Amino acid sequence: MPYKYDDQNIFAKILRGEIPNDTVVETEHTLAFNDIGPKAPVHVLVVPKGSYVNHDHFHSRATDAEILDFVRVTARIIADKGLAPGAGGSGYRVIGNAGPHGLQEVPHYHLHILGGRPLGAMVPDA
Ligand code: 5GP
Repeated sequence: MPYKYDDQNIFAKILRGEIPNDTVVETEHTLAFNDIGPKAPVHVLVVPKGSYVNHDHFHSRATDAEILDFVRVTARIIADKGLAPGAGGSGYRVIGNAGPHGLQEVPHYHLHILGGRPLGAMVPDA
């Protein structure tokens, strides 16, 4: 099934500046901002500026520059928030939800960076 991008989704509106956000990092290709309903002391959403629906869409269609920028921004936030275990941090979780089984709520690709407390089991038992 072809990817269909809905340009009325909430992150598209944030990227167009129609809705405010609490920006953490902004680069040419990527915007990262605090989640409106944080599930942990650190809960940052990393969003590519291009019109991509989910992880597989982004990584099959985005340019190398977009992908590199997105990955670097994610790593920079992990470092800046003091979460990286290699630098004395207590760790973190990066989550990307997609489709009905992934329970993706906003249909514009994003990763969640969560940290600042023990995060519990990765996936609840069925
Ligand atoms: P998903 O289930 O799509 O992976 O997660 C969507 C996330 O977007 C949720 O954690 C939700 O709290 C967050 N969110 C939804 N609307 C807004 C908004 O208007 N602003 C911000 N900053 N986050 C939002």
